[in-house]
Amino acid sequence: MKIGTVTEIKTHEYRVGLTPSCVKAYVGRGHEVMVQQGAGDGAGFSDEQYIEAGATIAPDRETVFAEAEMIVKVKEPQPDECKLFREGQLLYTYLHLAADEPLTTALLEKKVQGVAYETIETANGGLPCLRPMSAIAGRLSIQEGAKYLEKTYGGRGVLLGGVPGIERGKVAVIGGGEVGLNAAKMAVGLGAEVTILDICADRLAYLDDIFGGRVTTLYSNAGNIEKVIKESDLIVGAVLLPGKKAPHLIKRDQLKMMKKGAVIADVAVDQGGCIETTKATTHSDPIFVIDDVVHYCVANMPGAVARSSTLALTSTTLPYGLLLADKGLEEACKICKELLPGVNVLEGKCTYEGVAEAFGLEY
Ligand code: NAD
Repeated sequence: MKIGTVTEIKTHEYRVGLTPSCVKAYVGRGHEVMVQQGAGDGAGFSDEQYIEAGATIAPDRETVFAEAEMIVKVKEPQPDECKLFREGQLLYTYLHLAADEPLTTALLEKKVQGVAYETIETANGGLPCLRPMSAIAGRLSIQEGAKYLEKTYGGRGVLLGGVPGIERGKVAVIGGGEVGLNAAKMAVGLGAEVTILDICADRLAYLDDIFGGRVTTLYSNAGNIEKVIKESDLIVGAVLLPGKKAPHLIKRDQLKMMKKGAVIADVAVDQGGCIETTKATTHSDPIFVIDDVVHYCVANMPGAVARSSTLALTSTTLPYGLLLADKGLEEACKICKELLPGVNVLEGKCTYEGVAEAFGLEY
């Protein structure tokens, strides 16, 4: 099969759908790979590295869309890209269609075979192509939180790990899932005093086990949330109610209870955020301050570490991509049941229930 990848054009998106080592894997299986000139620059992969791995370099995205049978990307196609699809072309990328009616319509009209990373699902309900991005956002939340605690950014001027003879910084992580676990790991690693809150008793027991006494676990209820609001230097919002808006666990008037210069990193911002005052920010303007509390609410955090994110993402997308290239969509879905829920649009029909429901489409 002829596979192509292009430079991402969404604002501040520096990841790329294929690394040189992915190219090597596809070429090793007898496929041809075409990479748009400069597509890997943002993630630190040069055209020369792609050529060495066996790819050909295309001068522009138009050439890739015109020639490739499967397009491997990172973000959902932008309007300029939608124009270029050909009927029956296989598109393998994050799609997030339920939030984007114009894109859904465009893919249906173009009769694209759209496989979305975010809806590929394992038998136990895991989302393997979303997980690495949650891990990255969780780890990054502490790195960013630590930075914005610095005085110059309006923070309290607190060093999370402290030094001998002084108190360590206090971090509260609300939501102990993939983001929360990774945030806690980083905060513990820095030497902070860490509390994780969740509503799931089994999850709290698991976290208590794996951290071996290095964290405090608390049931997430109004009383415990108020306790961490008052005590914390850094609060990480990491709650998820699948398919729903995040609940506002910290209300506007509770910000006044926080320490002056404390930081909130609301990773759940992409689901509306779990702090009432959260509003999405960007990498170029990542923070705002309300009631002396610094809010960091970047909706696409992994973009800040494009190289690590590309490596983590492509490690999980590659095996499914190889199967799609080797067998074609229909056969690949028969062999690998995890791929089936990934198919969102096919032959002009919507094939994913959540998207069909969102726009009243036939399913
Ligand atoms: P997850 O499903 O692994 O974990 C969510 C956790 O929240 C679960 O353990 C659940 O029990 C817990 N929870 C639910 N209600 C709660 C409550 N009231 N109080 C405390 N805990 C509660 O999800 P995840 O992968 O960790 O993702 C968390 C959020 O981060 C999601 O909204 C996800 O979309 C978002 N995210 C954002 C970025 C970004 O760049 N901003 C990147 C990745 C993920």
